[in-house]
Amino acid sequence: MKWQGRRASANVEDRRGRGGGGGKLVGGGIGGIILVLVITLLSGGNAGDVLNNVMSNGSGGSEPYQESAQEQELAQFVSVVLADTEDVWSDIFAQMGKTYTDPTLVMYSGSVDSACGTATSAVGPFYCPGDSKLYIDLSFYDELQQRFKAPGDFAMAYVIAHEVGHHVQTLLGTTAKLDRARAQLDEKAYNQQQVRFELQADYLAGVWANHAQGMDLLEAGDLEEALTAASAVGDDTIQKQAQGYAVPDSFTHGTSEQRKRWLYKGFENGTIAGGDTFGAAEL
Ligand SMILES: [Zn+2]
Repeated sequence: MKWQGRRASANVEDRRGRGGGGGKLVGGGIGGIILVLVITLLSGGNAGDVLNNVMSNGSGGSEPYQESAQEQELAQFVSVVLADTEDVWSDIFAQMGKTYTDPTLVMYSGSVDSACGTATSAVGPFYCPGDSKLYIDLSFYDELQQRFKAPGDFAMAYVIAHEVGHHVQTLLGTTAKLDRARAQLDEKAYNQQQVRFELQADYLAGVWANHAQGMDLLEAGDLEEALTAASAVGDDTIQKQAQGYAVPDSFTHGTSEQRKRWLYKGFENGTIAGGDTFGAAEL
């Protein structure tokens, strides 16, 4: 992606080296929903468990975080991508007669407190509707490369765009709708709704990528990097890697094929209109 020398977002909070731990866990309600790209501790349970798993890594340290050159570059990259999402989504919202409010991106290391509770890096990048913030430990970039075999800057851009997609869903009321539906659904039915919700975030990431391409920001291979990442974080692929088999009823994010498909659909369409995953007969 062409990102060097371009505007970086000011909506970035650097909490690296500080660690979370004093966090209360908000149960139920909007603040309790945590929207993760991928739950990386599949063998160990659900997101709630991960959030409960507060790590004590020295909270409140006063030493400034010592970043490596690679981290410095990554932090800059992430801030530029965030700025691009602000530009694209405020345009799209304006066309709908709505106002886009920018989310904040929190960079952290190890663990972090959010309005959705305390989370560790193990949960992966996530968005919390309760405080409109995206949380990311930049080491996820290495995880993408090494564990998920999805290298490249645009793989990381996709991850950010997916979480921003959850912010868009929150602004459009879709998140609250899913939250309300939760009480009426059994686990299997709720999981199915969650899959549609997550695939929509992938679609919205694709919408952003379409506009990035329109601004001539993509380089050869970028789209493929995003598609590879979307595929790598599919429920079936992750479960097979973790436990040797996949349990479709437990899927919450969609299969690798579905994630790729909706990301690509968003990329092709470039508008919110084609992204009704909830009404789609087939995912
Ligand atoms: Zn998600």
